[in-house]
Amino acid sequence: MDDFIVSARKYRPDNFVSVVGQDSITKTLKNSIKTNQLAQAYLFCGPRGVGKTTCARIFAKTINCSNVNSEFEACNECESCVAFNKLRSLNIHELDAASNNSVDDIRNLIDQVRIPPQLGSYSVYIIDEVHMLSSAAFNAFLKTLEEPPKHVVFILATTEKHKIIPTILSRCQIFDFNRIGVDDIRDRLEFVAQKENISAEHDALQIIAQKADGAMRDALSIFDQIVSFSGKDITYQSTIKNLNVLDYEIYFDITNAFITANYSQSLLIFDDVIRKGFEANYFITGLASHFRDLLICKDPGTVELLEVGKKIKEKYLEHAQKCSVSFLFQAIGIANNADLNYKASQNKRLLVELALLSICNIENEALINNIEAEKPVENKKTEQKSEVKPEHKFEVKPVVKEKAVSQKTVTSEDTTTQMSVPVEPVAEKPVGEELENIKAANTQSERATEQKSVSENKPSYIGVSIKDIAKSTEKIIETDSSGEPIINYEHLGTDDYDEEKLKYVWEKYAESKSADPRLNSFLKTHAPVKDADNQYSITVENNQIKAKLEAELMDTLKFLKTELNNSEFELSYKVGTTEQEKTFKSDQEKLEDMIKQNPEVKNLRDQLNLDFE
Ligand SMILES: [Zn+2]
Repeated sequence: MDDFIVSARKYRPDNFVSVVGQDSITKTLKNSIKTNQLAQAYLFCGPRGVGKTTCARIFAKTINCSNVNSEFEACNECESCVAFNKLRSLNIHELDAASNNSVDDIRNLIDQVRIPPQLGSYSVYIIDEVHMLSSAAFNAFLKTLEEPPKHVVFILATTEKHKIIPTILSRCQIFDFNRIGVDDIRDRLEFVAQKENISAEHDALQIIAQKADGAMRDALSIFDQIVSFSGKDITYQSTIKNLNVLDYEIYFDITNAFITANYSQSLLIFDDVIRKGFEANYFITGLASHFRDLLICKDPGTVELLEVGKKIKEKYLEHAQKCSVSFLFQAIGIANNADLNYKASQNKRLLVELALLSICNIENEALINNIEAEKPVENKKTEQKSEVKPEHKFEVKPVVKEKAVSQKTVTSEDTTTQMSVPVEPVAEKPVGEELENIKAANTQSERATEQKSVSENKPSYIGVSIKDIAKSTEKIIETDSSGEPIINYEHLGTDDYDEEKLKYVWEKYAESKSADPRLNSFLKTHAPVKDADNQYSITVENNQIKAKLEAELMDTLKFLKTELNNSEFELSYKVGTTEQEKTFKSDQEKLEDMIKQNPEVKNLRDQLNLDFE
């Protein structure tokens, strides 16, 4: 059997050009060799595994090479280079200050420093983890560092620059090593895989590079680990399994559940994750990062910040289109809050589940508010006329809903002064219901501002008001006795259509609202149901939604009648229990469901005396 050499050693760079991700540093070092302006002391700072010692060794080899090439790299052939490559050069001395940090250790070093090199021009002293030296050792070292013999070059390396005393800092030329970028690490891994005749999927290497967190050495160790696990064929699946990394697909799936307000699906996905042995905390932090990644995909300027493989990147871009910016903002907040509260929580699973349910609820709420914000003109008029009661504006904080309920402020819009009045939560009503009332009371201005900024560039679905229809279809508009516009569909036929055709047309209508993903997904999950011939209805969750959809009914009917070529088709909205309703629940109901699923939840709730405010 071949002697196995770990990749981190086998593929340790042996010249400047092969150092990964530290271009500016290697360039500066080469430049100093080129101009023959060597400092006597260098300080290499930066995280572990990013190439500090490697660069120090290459530098030591190169300044001792008797035949430096035109690229200012060591020749690897001269006597000095050969000695370096065989690790038996006497021109390089490495001291690990972590284990040799006493005054005596430094005195030994100072004695050695006086002896000039026999071969080559420089004796290079690499002192690793130099911040570990005791203060006495530091002081003993200071004088030598101040006036070293001409043939000596010190290279001090540290992961903790702030622990280095200023007198040392001021005597060194300082190089700050950066974490290595994920792409650079992945490229290097691709190179190593190729050299080792290992076929590796791009996305698999990307995962390893991410896991390495900027350290090349760690990346290569992980790579070795994966190779010993899956042999000469590294796949994405085997890699995430081996590294215990959650598949991106899980996050994409659960996001789909969120944006369609599919509560049960989100809980099932989470359950699946737990069953696979992942910590709930790991999942929720991953989820927050996932939302962050989706958010940066919303802006072409920040897409570059996304550090994932090619295939997964495409997926992110595609999914980002389905999520609104405000959804992502709120979802990040909720996920992050759950993460922050995780340690303190007595029932961690419930904490995460409640967070998931809250995220599911974002789109539902947004839909209600969204439609509210765009009341048609006629409604506004009647409101203005009957301005007997002052409108109340509730400022509901988007993230911490429970708090918002009890701490919201009421502003009277009749007067210009704003006053804060605490609102007592109504104890008899479930929290969910109360929230709904608040939403109903929300005035337009708050949402309208948000709406404005979001929809300035893209057309909003409510852009179609009755006025607009009247303008665009003047030919078929008439006015009834009370001045209300009615649309005349006499030019249409009475074609037959079946459920399939209606379903197709309905989806087409939903698609015509794709500029508003919330409305789009709402319509897709609420299809018309047949009551009688040409009489269809849609059951919605509550009166607010019903009222808002009805405000658009004329537009909706026009679309459907025209597409079906049937002037007799009628559609109405009613409130009731639907499939969707079953998942549209108050917090109390959600809890009851959870207790049904797992009676332990009730015990926990009772023991801890937990309750909704
Ligand atoms: Zn050489």
